[in-house]
Amino acid sequence: MIRGGTILLVALVAACGDLVPPARPDPYDVGIRLNDGFELRFHWTPASLPVRFWIEPEANLPTDAAEAIQAWEAVALLGEFRGVVVADSDAADVLVVRAEPIDINGNGATRLDCLGQTEISVELDTTVTLPFVIELFPRRGASPTSLRSCLRTTLAHEIGHTLGLFQHSDAPDDLMYAPPRVGRPSERDVASFAALYHSIPSVRLPAGR
Ligand SMILES: [Zn+2]
Repeated sequence: MIRGGTILLVALVAACGDLVPPARPDPYDVGIRLNDGFELRFHWTPASLPVRFWIEPEANLPTDAAEAIQAWEAVALLGEFRGVVVADSDAADVLVVRAEPIDINGNGATRLDCLGQTEISVELDTTVTLPFVIELFPRRGASPTSLRSCLRTTLAHEIGHTLGLFQHSDAPDDLMYAPPRVGRPSERDVASFAALYHSIPSVRLPAGR
């Protein structure tokens, strides 16, 4: 019996050795530091899930938004984020709208086919104001195919901002690099998300959320 127990123990140690997770890349900074040193650090809480998104029913926006929400849900390995699309914009935490086309300057290959912006407000008492608003701006004259690609990538990036990834990564392979070049979260985006969601936020959701 003892001998058998010893063998079992060795087998377990070997199995544990096999389960060592791969090293994760270092996270980038996600909070915004204000002039007085206060860091705006925000994440959704388990009680606030699912985060409610309202998507303007414009062109491919609903499909692209659903894909982007899923991509971020896959990043939340422990279920720290879940999103749902709602029909009533008044009941939404995040609004996604497509603005009128604008002129975007730049030369040749560096010219962007769209721009994105996420508006996040925090009250002086450190409560965030909902809804957050994502606006996507198509470039006037962009071809439909390249515009679609730009809007998808940019929307996935902007949704990252609404999850509390307020800053930009300095690595082009990360979705939170600006302007984003990859359409999906990278390992470093995953590490940064995990670091944020397992830290204490400095700003909070309004009462009832
Ligand atoms: Zn950004």
